[in-house]
Amino acid sequence: MRKKVIAGNWKMNKTLSEATQFVEEVAPKLEQSEQVDAIICAPFTQLATLVEKAKNTPLQISAQNMHYEESGAFTGEVSPVMLKDIGVTHVIIGHSERRQYFSETDETVNKKVHAAFEHGLTPIVCVGESLEQRQANETKSFVTSQVEKAIAGLDEALVAQMIIAYEPIWAIGTGKTATSKEANEVCQHIRQTIEEQTSKELADKIIIQYGGSVKPANVDELLAQSDIDGALVGGASLEAPSFIQLVEAGK
Ligand code: 13P
Repeated sequence: MRKKVIAGNWKMNKTLSEATQFVEEVAPKLEQSEQVDAIICAPFTQLATLVEKAKNTPLQISAQNMHYEESGAFTGEVSPVMLKDIGVTHVIIGHSERRQYFSETDETVNKKVHAAFEHGLTPIVCVGESLEQRQANETKSFVTSQVEKAIAGLDEALVAQMIIAYEPIWAIGTGKTATSKEANEVCQHIRQTIEEQTSKELADKIIIQYGGSVKPANVDELLAQSDIDGALVGGASLEAPSFIQLVEAGK
């Protein structure tokens, strides 16, 4: 049985005091669980404080991006060494908003995945098609290509340790969720791609999340699907009661 992983992606939201208040409220309410992991992916300015606040609780703290180099003349960037140093455990890589607005490519995604593992961070790699691609029946081929390029050159054992988030772009922040069947079909296809690249044993282990307008009202049905192992949640992760409900649904 794979664990469920519920990750809240706050995107560019919350001041430090709002973020701290959230974690002070949520972290003590989460129980250590064999069934579900809870992660908050916060903006850089909040990470060090949130890691301290979440210490000795089940809540894990993730970044939303990073550079692939360890240090150097990259003004405005944050490195995997810096994230590891403050106790961050995960990092989102290749979110569609970064691909769309910040020129993230399959190549930079691949470099970042390698860098994350080199520094002991778990990458949450986002893939997903646009509405045009879905309408043109290109979803599976596009997502396969994104997955293959993201894991290129990785040791097979590491592939099984990463998290893949399937986030159809047309379902992000739009209130349009893929039906649980549609979402599961693509997650299944991603697992198949991983199997072809590694082995059935490793493909059975990898965590594949769904993301795109997940909320307490639809999370149960999504998590009940055979190949959906969790959720990457934007809007509905910003309020403490809603995030707690989403984590509870993973049990
Ligand atoms: P929403 O849950 O707000 O649709 O965002 C999804 C997402 O992009 C999570 O990374």
